[in-house]
Amino acid sequence: MPFSKLGLPPALINGVKAMGYVDPTPIQLRAIPVVLGGGDLIGSAQTGTGKTAAFALPVLARLGKHEPRGPRVLVLEPTRELAAQVETAFRDFGRFTDIRATVVHGGVGYGRQRSEIQAGTDIVIATPGRLMDFLQERTLRLDNLKILILDEVDRMLDMGFVKDVKKIIAMCPKERQTLFFSATVPPEIEEVARFALRNPARIEIGVARTVNKSVTHAFYPVNVGQKFDLLVALLEKTDFNSCLVFSRTKHGADKIARKLKAANHSVAVLHANRSQSQRVEALEGFKSGKYEVMVATDIAARGIDVAGVSHVINYDIPANPEDYVHRIGRTGRAAAVGDAFTLTTPEQAAEIRDIERFIGQKVPQLKLEGFPYGAAPRPALGFQGAAPNYPQRPPGRGGQHQRPAHGGHQPRSPQGGGQQRQSPYQVPEPPAAGQGGHGPRPAQGGQGGAHSPAPKKSGFLSRGNWFRR
Ligand code: AMP
Repeated sequence: MPFSKLGLPPALINGVKAMGYVDPTPIQLRAIPVVLGGGDLIGSAQTGTGKTAAFALPVLARLGKHEPRGPRVLVLEPTRELAAQVETAFRDFGRFTDIRATVVHGGVGYGRQRSEIQAGTDIVIATPGRLMDFLQERTLRLDNLKILILDEVDRMLDMGFVKDVKKIIAMCPKERQTLFFSATVPPEIEEVARFALRNPARIEIGVARTVNKSVTHAFYPVNVGQKFDLLVALLEKTDFNSCLVFSRTKHGADKIARKLKAANHSVAVLHANRSQSQRVEALEGFKSGKYEVMVATDIAARGIDVAGVSHVINYDIPANPEDYVHRIGRTGRAAAVGDAFTLTTPEQAAEIRDIERFIGQKVPQLKLEGFPYGAAPRPALGFQGAAPNYPQRPPGRGGQHQRPAHGGHQPRSPQGGGQQRQSPYQVPEPPAAGQGGHGPRPAQGGQGGAHSPAPKKSGFLSRGNWFRR
């Protein structure tokens, strides 16, 4: 069914067209009529399913025109990046309307946000902390609120916002429509849902335990001391557009970024200790292609949407199996394909098992052919300079890396994501003791299938013998 049949007004259909969307995604098909009808909704959907448009479009339709009397819609988001991204989505979809949206989050001054609120806005998209500040100083009042949207509730609670979230819900008028989105809905989240919603419709899309079908993924076992070398080797051997590297800690993210820069990659870093302007610069630079690699922590990268992320590398295995799905969800978004590699160390058998149990499939364990497994780690890059035979990136890459700007992700092989892609240099790792049964091929979209980083087109691998047996 096309967007035009969903009951959205022409201005929004034009907004959708301007975004280049052709058909609604499953969650949009199911949620838009419910929201247009004024009903409450619990949506459990992975990021990358199109859930922002699933709520933003019908909400804009319900608002109709700008009214200066104070916000009629409040959207709560767990992170600044998500809040900013959702505000952009509202502005994009509503570009042919006069509806006003304002983002409210910490890390920046109060002045501009305060004056936008005071000028009269229709939609406030906020993180809980800064919103509470504005509510307490009474700059912002919720008397006129008609629709409350709680997005990424599981992450909001993980981040310790439960009290603030409940307080904010209690400050909203009782007569309202409430939309509730959470990747998973375990009992403690059900409790918040019961508190916030009335007779909600439930929509479950692409259950959060599954890995997006367009993503191929694999584990790469390695000793702790060789993790960084393997990361560099994977990047060198992979024809990536843009790569998101996950670190468990902020300190780790900084360290990885420093070392990757020393190996001539253009690198951005995203974590909570960075200033708001640094975070915006990192994200914008990554989207525009200025940075080919972004190193991030889970919380900072939650839900961020960059169209061209072709690869995700988990430098550290995620702390929770659920984060595995979320991290991998950063690539292969909306019809594009992507690869995801996870570096694992011998003591992480339990974490590996938990992830496989959670997603309900075995993840292949691969070895990078030619990588000197077991060799002493090479000297720390960035601190002592590159080792003489280190496979240096050719001049001109790194800081001047060129790739299509935001939105320009290109499938790396004509076969596309669902087909088998043979790798000339990957060999399956024999199953580790106690974990038997790994198939020889990497998992693809929950069904098994082929996986390989597309080989580098440039010939510089052949310049050294580092990867050769
Ligand atoms: P979300 O799950 O809302 O973060 O959306 C993930 C990505 O899918 C974003 O880049 C959206 O712009 C894109 N997207 C959402 N809906 C559609 C659609 N109907 N057709 C194509 N792309 C879409």
